Amino acid sequence: MRYAVLSDIHGNLEALRAVLVDCRGRVDGVLCLGDLVGYGADPAACIELIAERAQLLVAGNHEYGVTGQLSLAWFNPYARAALEWTAATLGDDHRAWLRGLSLTARLGDATLVHASPRRPAAWEYILTAADGFAALGAFDTRLAFVGHSHQPGYWSLGADERARAAGAVEIGLQRGHRYIVNVGSVGQPRDRDPRATYAIWDRTARRVSIRRVAYDITEARRKIVTAGLPRFLADRLQSGT
Ligand code: ZN
Repeated sequence: MRYAVLSDIHGNLEALRAVLVDCRGRVDGVLCLGDLVGYGADPAACIELIAERAQLLVAGNHEYGVTGQLSLAWFNPYARAALEWTAATLGDDHRAWLRGLSLTARLGDATLVHASPRRPAAWEYILTAADGFAALGAFDTRLAFVGHSHQPGYWSLGADERARAAGAVEIGLQRGHRYIVNVGSVGQPRDRDPRATYAIWDRTARRVSIRRVAYDITEARRKIVTAGLPRFLADRLQSGT
């Protein structure tokens, strides 16, 4: 079985569509790590598409923000402005659906969680080597997929070796090792490559591939500006930061 693992779509319909086209024929299913909404101008369309396509998904901090489960004071001013706009744009049915999402899920050997398997509702960022190795002790599957930082990479732990690679592209899953893999962001990459990012997890081949997909950034930016969302949110799509 092969799965596309998507995270941090953030209302960017152009990026989401491009990723779903890219993974067509390459995967048997779609998994999603949350943050469907926030920042981008198409939250409802992204929810509809993920609801239709994802067989398993978990909530991100932006789902918690837009449904009132996390105080907007937690967010920076750009995120807060986008969440207020998103909450006003979505209907009750969409908000109720988002509120029903769980914080973690499990599929075979893998844990799915938006931020960190350690205290998922604390929305901690796994950024440094130490962050990742600490979080490896917080789940009991061999593999955990995370998003949240919008920066792809992995941490692995074997009997006598530890490894970490930011921006990894191909990850061979060795027997006896455990892994945290950050799949990057579909809708708002922040590693200076503006293309949409997602992972393909091939369970049979024991392999995770991070893929980058070009999409219509101009259109996504135009919609953000037209919606009256902060201009910064449009500009950062262009720079991938
Ligand atoms: Zn995010």
